[in-house]
Amino acid sequence: MGLYILSRHFSKSSIFQCLRYCQFRVTKTQLNKMSGSSHHPALIQVLASSVAIADKAGDIVRNVFAQGKLGIVEKEGPNDLQTQADRSAQDCILASLFTQFPNLKVVGEEGELDMSSVKDEMIVKDSDPKVLELTCPQEWSSASIEQLTVWVDPLDGTKEYTQGLLDHVTVLIGIAVGSEAVAGVIHQPYYNYKSQEPGAQIGRTFYGVVGSGVYGLTRVLPPSDKKIVTTTRSHGTGLVQDALDILKPDSVLKVGGAGHKVLLLMEGEASAYVFPSPGCKKWDTCAPEAILNAMGGLLTDIHGAKYQYNSAVQHQNMEGVLATARFEDHQWYVDQLPQTLKEQVKNSLKKKK
Ligand code: AMP
Ligand code: MG
Ligand code: MG
Repeated sequence: MGLYILSRHFSKSSIFQCLRYCQFRVTKTQLNKMSGSSHHPALIQVLASSVAIADKAGDIVRNVFAQGKLGIVEKEGPNDLQTQADRSAQDCILASLFTQFPNLKVVGEEGELDMSSVKDEMIVKDSDPKVLELTCPQEWSSASIEQLTVWVDPLDGTKEYTQGLLDHVTVLIGIAVGSEAVAGVIHQPYYNYKSQEPGAQIGRTFYGVVGSGVYGLTRVLPPSDKKIVTTTRSHGTGLVQDALDILKPDSVLKVGGAGHKVLLLMEGEASAYVFPSPGCKKWDTCAPEAILNAMGGLLTDIHGAKYQYNSAVQHQNMEGVLATARFEDHQWYVDQLPQTLKEQVKNSLKKKK
């Protein structure tokens, strides 16, 4: 039986610890999942578990912030941060997925998984019952656990999280079958957090499957007579500005997080997400792409080509991101951006000598 927890700083010793730890915790549900005897398709099982896990990760993100000890470290510089919330939420998500699906390939953004430091109460062992009721589109219904790759961004919008722009933060769990992003969960831990209503529910989770639909979020289309473009607020480049100058949108929304920007498309606040930079990674786009596509929008690279999401692909989205709320608007944005601009995207973060 294979073990596949992949992450940026993945070590053999942590995998060994992980395997040893998990051997003590094999439940009946897990045995069913391992032997494939559950009657739900693998995609639906993993999605149902991911929904429950994303909620727990959101609790962790809120708790770390409330305690005020963010433990910020710079990964590759001041614009690439990691906090205790990124680390703990990722531990929760990876440990829970591994515990429930030992054969699942999971690629997480942050650090190595050291199961010996994951407390039992951080491991989610159940799944969302409503997701288990979904009918899996036929195309994916016979995919096995081994054919899936899960892309995890435990906290998208870290920079904004450290600055207190809490509604920019999302937890992203995307699921690919083969190379295609087909399902995903987005949890927004601080949705409604400014509400004054007593007992208001803070945070929300929604999910989607291409060919089935989106659940937990109602699609709102942006105005058809306006071009509202959303893009980065903290990773801008000259090329991002060039694209805005060419597109001449009626308004520009500079906000944090790939998940948050795609959410603006889904809720009708923006028409397009334009990011001609190789800064986003597969864990930023897998869940948003799957859910946006399931809703009738489209996310691709800046040329209009789809990204691949099998576990062997390069993590960086070298050719940028272009997403539209309406599938049918997408080609217009591809056509407006000149070839000379598109060709510069992959080299646009390289330091000039
Ligand atoms: P943003 O729109 O700037 O919030 O970026 C969306 C996602 O891509 C976040 O997870 C960022 O951390 C990541 N990202 C974008 N550009 C960069 C960059 N230049 N360096 C590191 N991460 C980036
Ligand atoms: Mg991210
Ligand atoms: Mg992140």
